[in-house]
Amino acid sequence: MILPVKIYGNEILRKKAEKITDFNEELEKLAKNMAETMYKAPGIGLAAPQVGVSKRLFVADISTQEKKDKLYILVNPEIIEFSEDKDKMEEGCLSIPNVYENVIRPIGIKIKAQNLKGEDFTLTVEGLLARCFQHELDHLNGILFVDRVSGFKKSILKSKLKKNFGVVY
Ligand code: ZN
Repeated sequence: MILPVKIYGNEILRKKAEKITDFNEELEKLAKNMAETMYKAPGIGLAAPQVGVSKRLFVADISTQEKKDKLYILVNPEIIEFSEDKDKMEEGCLSIPNVYENVIRPIGIKIKAQNLKGEDFTLTVEGLLARCFQHELDHLNGILFVDRVSGFKKSILKSKLKKNFGVVY
């Protein structure tokens, strides 16, 4: 089922999402619907608050649209290590349509999470996947990629957000 995506200006995107404690069918269904919504968009990541559920879960898949075999589902994710090296890459967000900005982030991370059964796992990732995971984890803390844009670009961005969404928050 395709879920409606909450757009910039919606309060839920600014809330800290709650830890997931019930690993049940409902959670599985939510993850499945989120993946479907992400592929349909199309996007490479989607966090639960973006579909109106304030819980610590995100899905990600950076492979091509035809090859849907690298779906990651992370429940209660936590970054336990960041690389010292950083790089800059353009980001966008399904909740902030038509806005793309360069964001500086660590190139690699080590991330701890649970699967849909509540089992722990750890991943060490870099490049686009690491960036995607950081962007999605930010969503669980009410942080949007536009918050991470700094310098002179910030004021231009703010007026663009105001113009496109009628609000800056
Ligand atoms: Zn996003």
